[in-house]
Amino acid sequence: PVLLTLIQIGKEMVDYIADYLQTIRSRRVFPDVSPGYMRNLVPEAAPLEGEPWTDIVRDIERVIMPGVTHWQSPYMHAYFPALNSFPSLLGDMLADAIGCLGFTWAASPACTELETIVMDWLGKMIGIPVEFLHSNKQNKGGGVIQLTASDCTFITMLAARTEVFRKYKCASLGLDEAEINSRLVAYCSDQAHSSVEKAGLISLVKMRFIPSDEDLSLRGHALQDAISRDREEGLIPFYVCATLGTTGACAFDNLKELGPICEKEGVWLHIDAAYAGTAFICPEYRYLMDGVEHAQSFAFNPSKWMMVHFDCSALWVKNSGALHRTFNVDPLYLKHENSGAAIDYMHWQIPLSRRFRALKLWFTIRSFGIEGIQRHIREGVRLASRFEKNVSQDQRFEIPAKRILGMVVFRLWGDNDLTENLLKRLNKSGKVHMVPASLKGKYVIRFTVTSQYTTESDIDRDWKIIADTTTKVLKDTES
Ligand code: PLP
Repeated sequence: PVLLTLIQIGKEMVDYIADYLQTIRSRRVFPDVSPGYMRNLVPEAAPLEGEPWTDIVRDIERVIMPGVTHWQSPYMHAYFPALNSFPSLLGDMLADAIGCLGFTWAASPACTELETIVMDWLGKMIGIPVEFLHSNKQNKGGGVIQLTASDCTFITMLAARTEVFRKYKCASLGLDEAEINSRLVAYCSDQAHSSVEKAGLISLVKMRFIPSDEDLSLRGHALQDAISRDREEGLIPFYVCATLGTTGACAFDNLKELGPICEKEGVWLHIDAAYAGTAFICPEYRYLMDGVEHAQSFAFNPSKWMMVHFDCSALWVKNSGALHRTFNVDPLYLKHENSGAAIDYMHWQIPLSRRFRALKLWFTIRSFGIEGIQRHIREGVRLASRFEKNVSQDQRFEIPAKRILGMVVFRLWGDNDLTENLLKRLNKSGKVHMVPASLKGKYVIRFTVTSQYTTESDIDRDWKIIADTTTKVLKDTES
């Protein structure tokens, strides 16, 4: 009887989900609620006895939906995409039902084996060097699924630190780890995501935010100058995080210049391609990662543009030994007959336990195929360029950074306040949702094409709302 109930209510939930996604256009994309809105909608304490399932389901529309920002809506243009898709959702449903924790190979062999295979598939799909693949037996490279791009940066920063500790210990300079740590310096551009700063904060290392050039790109000479200055001070440069597709403007650091410098200086180069990485599935965008061969690690989020829903961050390293040396603890209860022979992903991450996330990746790649994902990316870029054309034909607007992929940044000519007012009004309307960024002091609105349900007429509708609201804002400012 329990299973029968599960089948019945499970089907109803799938119906609800399908309806939700199909009719998402009819909802306000951005909710009209104030902090604490939910307090009066639910009891103060948990129920003593179980409640009927129908009551629980009824509360989705009453309690939850009024406070949801609808990230899958075509009118969602904030942040970067965080898409889902039916194969991905079903993959996770199955993973949750299996409910295994794949910390070691033995904890659930299929979990680890599928992850290594799918990470090799994905690596080949975006065209990263073979040194990053498990199947390449020359080195200890390979891919692993982490929760977020922030984790990937933090983890690789820790691994790079471990390698420096080893190097200095081998050189027997008489420095202990705390002394070495106090001299470490990590680098990124002034456009890097805040997660890089956070990684530095937690690792207790100095961070240098190097000014990007006029295209918001981190260039070789700027990095070299910063490293040389730090060496002169007796500091130890050890880690560079280059961004492909910055959060503010989707700009690209110059890997061809940065890579050889990192190699010469013995500095770990990590690439954060959180959003843009998906675009490399299309060969025409791979020029944007020229120089990737110099990197020690590379990460992107299939959980952004690739329709594999959160959480799923793909991280590849050339030498997994550095991760092992950083995260290896080996209590008896985690040992198994194949310890050492098979991959135990617990040595590649901070937590012990890990979900069977490879299933949703596998389902999604197989269901869409490489060509299906390429079509989705190209359509997103095409729609962004349509929006860009609309903006550029309106003299009231400036586009202060070049559009390369599926994001357009724009602002009203004049003081930042004007654009800020415009954005506030647009978000308040609940009809479209966008967030701002600051590009070298200029307040801009970021417009990303997110949803796979977005059509040309959605883009034109959104543009009309923006243009009409602009007329009102400018009129109010004049009066
Ligand atoms: N790096 C870049 C370039 C990003 O744009 C973002 C988020 O949008 C992140 C890192 C952080 O991603 P996550 O939420 O997966 O940590």
